[in-house]
This record gives sequence, structure tokens and C-alpha cells, in this order.
Amino acid sequence: MNKQIYNPLTKYHHDKFPKQKQEAPALQCEMNPLPDCGEKSYQGHNRLEGRKVLVTGGDSGIGRAAAIAYAKEGADVAINYLPVEQKDAEEVAKVIQAAGRKAVLIPGDLSDEAFCKKLVDEAHHKLGGLDNLTLVAGKQTAVEDIMALTTEQIKKTFEVNVFSLFWITKAALGYLKPGSTIITTSSVQAYQPSGNLLDYAATKTAIIAFTRGLAKQLAPKGIRVNSVAPGPVWTPLQICGGQPSDVIPEFGQQTPLQRAGQPVELAGVYVYLASEESSYTTGETYGVTGGMHIN
Ligand code: NAD
Ligand code: MG
Repeated sequence: MNKQIYNPLTKYHHDKFPKQKQEAPALQCEMNPLPDCGEKSYQGHNRLEGRKVLVTGGDSGIGRAAAIAYAKEGADVAINYLPVEQKDAEEVAKVIQAAGRKAVLIPGDLSDEAFCKKLVDEAHHKLGGLDNLTLVAGKQTAVEDIMALTTEQIKKTFEVNVFSLFWITKAALGYLKPGSTIITTSSVQAYQPSGNLLDYAATKTAIIAFTRGLAKQLAPKGIRVNSVAPGPVWTPLQICGGQPSDVIPEFGQQTPLQRAGQPVELAGVYVYLASEESSYTTGETYGVTGGMHIN
């Protein structure tokens, strides 16, 4: 697969998706078609040998693709996810172990500050160190009318998508040494917000500001902070209320590349931002959007 040259328009699923809906958080193992998170398709080159990494949202979608790529690049990986996602998480653990690396599974809710601290301490303890935070977990629930957007939803979206970044970073700073990296996950929504994703898009813009400011604050410590801004990617987030169900079949087809991305197509950017190759890059946002603009 890796030696061939593919047409990006047709490299992955580019037909309509079957209509489907699950309760949030959706399970990846029940999606049709299954997202490609690099289980077979990603090939590592030892670019992260010996690293110790914590990935939130590592059970599915983009976080799973990052976790699998990191392991195939030689890193030991702890993943966080919600307890109901245990089945997806166990699949990821098997792929990490098959790559010869250590997999640590730490379920729990990131909207709980005390849990965020426990998560970081446990990841550090069980991995025997910590040099990268890959913060991918996120909540997205489409609501057409601001009058129907509840305070409960607004708070939860901000707690999971934004507050947890503060809590996890604060808990980890005592462990991170010069050369460590933090990678956040924003979105094309930070730049081109949809009318039905007000709370979500606002969190994604906040993540860009957090990333840029934290990069300045941590540069003197030798810690780099960058963000990945995905466009439409075929993941569980979209089929459990992230998008209205009726737009699922055409999901991603509005991009210049005319299809949804697959999570594995983001793995290379996460690996790059965690690796020595990006040593002069901080406070930056990398778009992986199928051609949508992020400025
Ligand atoms: P996903 O559903 O696979 O991943 C989201 C993960 O967030 C879940 O697996 C879950 O483990 C985690 N999560 C949600 N609420 C949580 C909570 N309270 N506590 C702990 N974990 C929680 O979907 P994905 O699309 O891979 O999402 C990953 C990131 O990518 C998100 O931040 C999302 O905003 C971002 N993103 C996705 C797209 C897309 O089109 N899929 C586009 C732009 C940005
Ligand atoms: Mg999941």
C-alpha cells in the first residue's frame, strides 16, 4: 500500500455513507464502513523510539490513529476514553502491543478536574515517564437554533474540549522535560464555523488561542505546543449527533478533495509534531482538511 501512488480523490471511501446513528459516544466498532485508523495501513519508521505518550480520545477516530502511529513509531502509549468505549480501547491496545510497545488503558471522564490529574499521574507512573500529551478528546453536538442550546450542553462542551486542556497541562508540567511536546486538536470549525455548531466551534477557536499562548509560555522551558485542525473526518463523533443524520451520506463531499478524510490521514502530522523533525515549530496549527482553508 505505502509504495504505491494513489489519487487522493479516490484513495479512500468517496461514495455516499450509509445513514447511521448511535448514542454518544458512538462506538467505532459498530460503524459502517469502519474508519481506517492505520491498524494495517500505517507504517512506522522509528521516529518516536522510546517516547512515552498520553493520548486522550485514543480509543477511536483521530486519537486512535495518532496512538497507533505513535506505537508503530516506537512509543509506549497510554490512552484515555470514556468507560463505555472499553471495546474500542481494547482493540487499540492490541494493535499497540502487536507493534511491540506498551499500551496503558485509563478510562475516565475529562470533564472532571480531579480525574484529569489522576489520569496524568497514572500515565506517568505506568509508562515510566511522560514526554508528549496528545489531546484529541472532544464533544460535538449539533443544535440548529441557539434557543434550543442548553446551558448544560454549552458547559459540557467547554469542559471536555477546553477546560480539560488546562487541567491536563497543569497536572503534566511537573513531568515534562525540555524536548517534550503538547499537541492539541482544533478544527476547521475554528475558522469556518457552521451555524449549528456554535458551542463546539467556539471551543475550537479557544483551543487555537490556548495553543498559541501556551507555546509562548512554555518555549523557555523547551516544551513545544502545536495544534492539528482537521476538516471532515469519518469518525464516531459525526454519527452520534455531531452532524444531523440526514447529512451523513454526503459527509465530506463539500471539500475540494470531495470526500471525508480517514483518521490515518492525520497520523503523519501528529507524528511529525511529536518528533524531533519539528524541533523549530511551536504555536502552529496544521490543517488536514481536504482543501478547506484555515485562515
Ligand atoms: P471520536 O468520537 O473518535 O473521538 C472523540 C473522543 O473524545 C471519544 O472517543 C471519547 O473517548 C472522547 N471523549 C468525549 N467526551 C469525553 C469525556 N467527557 N471524557 C473523556 N473522553 C471524552 O471522534 P474524532 O472525530 O476522532 O474526534 C477527535 C477530535 O477531532 C475531537 O477533538 C474533534 O473535535 C476533532 N475534530 C474532528 C473532526 C471530524 O470531522 N471527525 C473534525 C475536526 C476536529
Ligand atoms: Mg470513541
